[in-house]
Amino acid sequence: MLFCGTKGPRTTGPLDDRGKTMRNRQRSLWSIVPALVLFGAGCAGTGPSTTPSVVAAPNLGAAKRQVNAYVDSGRYEADIAAVADQARAYLESRVRDGGKLAIVLDVDETALSNLPSLRANDYGFIIPGPCDLPSGPCGLGAWIRMAQADAIKPVLALARLARERGVAVFFLTGRPERARAPTERNLRTAGYEWTALILKPDALTTKSAADFKAPERKKLVDQGYTIIVNIGDQMSDLEGGFAERTYKLPNPFYFVP
Ligand SMILES: [Mg+2]
Repeated sequence: MLFCGTKGPRTTGPLDDRGKTMRNRQRSLWSIVPALVLFGAGCAGTGPSTTPSVVAAPNLGAAKRQVNAYVDSGRYEADIAAVADQARAYLESRVRDGGKLAIVLDVDETALSNLPSLRANDYGFIIPGPCDLPSGPCGLGAWIRMAQADAIKPVLALARLARERGVAVFFLTGRPERARAPTERNLRTAGYEWTALILKPDALTTKSAADFKAPERKKLVDQGYTIIVNIGDQMSDLEGGFAERTYKLPNPFYFVP
């Protein structure tokens, strides 16, 4: 604590400057009075000083720097690869038992990376307007219509392995049905092949993405599929059952309830 106790900063000076020194001491005293009032609570008692209360929220600028460091260091990609590897291992082991098998994949930040648009917006969420890259801003609608998102490669490898092993590949996304054409175009140019792409009906709003996705997985089960792997970047991609195994990818950028 800066001003607790009696050993404050001491002004020293030659005797002939004593008057000036006294005025300085008076100014110094008045300058610290507000601080004493502000920090008075921390000076009470004889125990260790108390840290002034802080606002219980992260600093946004610092959080963005941490996210950029996480991505730029390669840790984000490595963490995705580690999760996808687990899914691949389970798929390989599970296909030996046969059956009408399927995997379900989310699209955004699972099959496709929106990182260029996220960074152009400095991680802000901008829906309308054009998408100017790399400077930004980048409207989400325009970005989706551009269909330029890259594949998240470990997930692309998982989808390709499923196809090779005769396992059906279903994309299940919260993107609206009206975005079907650019979403299909983007998935295709990114290298994916699939059995069906399930998008959210344009008029449907749900409290959680799981309220849409879990019933859609149930429909697949009702068609006779066993969903052996369900992979997504949000817990709401995975909650609600109808999959043998769920795999949660990291997403340090945004949260979908
Ligand atoms: Mg997603």
